[in-house]
Amino acid sequence: MDKPDFLKKYREKRNFDRTSEPFGSKKKSGKKQPIFVIQKHNASQLHYDFRLEVDNVLKSWSVPKGPSTDPSERRLAVRTEDHPIDYADFEGVIPEDQYGAGTVMVWDAGTYESMNKKDEKEISMKDALNDGHVVFKLKGKKISGGYALIQKGKGDNWFLIKMNDDEADARRNPVSTEPRSVLTKRTLEEIRNDEKNAG
Ligand code: MN
Repeated sequence: MDKPDFLKKYREKRNFDRTSEPFGSKKKSGKKQPIFVIQKHNASQLHYDFRLEVDNVLKSWSVPKGPSTDPSERRLAVRTEDHPIDYADFEGVIPEDQYGAGTVMVWDAGTYESMNKKDEKEISMKDALNDGHVVFKLKGKKISGGYALIQKGKGDNWFLIKMNDDEADARRNPVSTEPRSVLTKRTLEEIRNDEKNAG
């Protein structure tokens, strides 16, 4: 029997002759620790795609307001389809007639550490995801420290919440003060213009 295709949903939604998004052939990030990425995506509505490497794919949530560094703010995070590992480096323009049409920027990136426990015992990210309660420590350029993703009921709605640790800071607002790509330093507009000029 064939192995289950974890990227089936991702691939069904896209026409790879039209979009420059990766088909997804990479299974590992090549980093010692699992990676995370936050992509700013100016689709029909601006949002931040929050992705965590778990079992060879990027588990994904769409966060309309982006991550907060203030533990008293919970941010809605809507679960979306798993993305391939190679998506972590994707920056560019998705054409008009394609799913997710708009401009994508790598807004933050880095590695993370799982901090999931159940009855005092460490549990895997996979099991924590199934329980709808995931805790991890991010090491990014803009965002770092502990965060939790907590599922609301049984549907696709989760909340992304900053944990109250040394990196918590209610006065910071990186979503508005640090708008550029951590990969190329470009704004969304510059990414779009570069692609236009490239023809
Ligand atoms: Mn998106």
